[in-house]
Amino acid sequence: ALTAGIVGLPNVGKSTLFNAITKAGAEMANYPFATIDPNVGMVEVPDHRLQRIDELIPAKKIVHTTFEFTDIAGIVKGASKGEGLGNKFLENIRQVDAIVHVVRAFEDPNVTHVSGKVDPIEDIETINLELGIADLDSVNKRYAKVEKVARTKDKAAVAELAVLQKIKPALEVGQPVRSLEFDEAEEKIVRGLFLLTSKPVLYVANIAEEDMSDPAAAKYYQQIRDFAAQENAEVIGISAKTEEEIAELPDSDRQDFLEAEGVTESGLDRLIRASYHLLGLATFFTAGGPETRAWTFKQGMTAPQAAGVIHSDFERGFIKAETVSFADLDQYGSMQAVKEAGKYRLEGKDYQVQDGDIIEFRFNV
Ligand code: GDP
Repeated sequence: ALTAGIVGLPNVGKSTLFNAITKAGAEMANYPFATIDPNVGMVEVPDHRLQRIDELIPAKKIVHTTFEFTDIAGIVKGASKGEGLGNKFLENIRQVDAIVHVVRAFEDPNVTHVSGKVDPIEDIETINLELGIADLDSVNKRYAKVEKVARTKDKAAVAELAVLQKIKPALEVGQPVRSLEFDEAEEKIVRGLFLLTSKPVLYVANIAEEDMSDPAAAKYYQQIRDFAAQENAEVIGISAKTEEEIAELPDSDRQDFLEAEGVTESGLDRLIRASYHLLGLATFFTAGGPETRAWTFKQGMTAPQAAGVIHSDFERGFIKAETVSFADLDQYGSMQAVKEAGKYRLEGKDYQVQDGDIIEFRFNV
């Protein structure tokens, strides 16, 4: 499964945020606690469309789709040189598919800051520097090898060398690989290099509790946003401490709490949604049986591949995907009305599944 890794300097609120995630996840009915790594927190992906589908096509229960956050502890200055838990830290980041980078944007004299003052940009740069140095190391090693082969005019090596020549100077001036533009062929080569700074990043500004009703107005928020924009990354403002408190409330109280704060959605829900998109994930639905259910697929998947998310037999024996988009069901109000309006589609094996599709798979067993 794809996972987003939570990173950040010590004392910025990572554990607090991760606790909020685990507590929210602990409420999930079918959660196999015992078999899960303590560094992995499973969350449900909030999706209001499930309730609407269930209202129109009633089922016994609603099942949300889930995904994972991984808590990655222990970055310190010098990690790329193997200091502290440095190597292990970098290795753990290499395993994740996207990075959720938590930065401290709250002032609190009782909470020590590792470098003595709250300065989110400096904090971000400290971590990005460690990741960049580790990447430069990998690129230099690779460069030496590929350059030799490229001299023989080997096509693949020549193409890779060109990519390395583009990446190396950027890393040397501290630019992350994700801020560079690549065409499709180059993109493929970049993926094969498994670089840390090529992973998509979401910055989480851990803001003061009193700012949670208007995160964009919080101190440091705009500064972080401007920084993130240079690398095509997004920012979310969250109060980790408040999210941990919210996650402990019973469902009914949670809504009241949020309303009192003047927000429609918890910061955690915003974070889950943004991370889900960051990972290139999307949702299709099944309905009409005992469950109204959401399923996660990777954007770009074909109908048989999406069928395989449910069961490998569905993929192997795929015939057709009977498909209705959520927007159409929502608009017409029933499957019957959707059919009458000509919006019911029979999709074949080359169809690329779209976010919001409600699908019934036809397959051979
Ligand atoms: P980590 O080292 O990044 O995992 O940081 P922790 O989650 O352990 O948080 C460090 C300290 O900051 C703890 O004492 C938290 O209670 C406190 N803290 C975390 N988030 C907030 C916040 O939003 N506001 C305030 N005032 N304190 C926070």
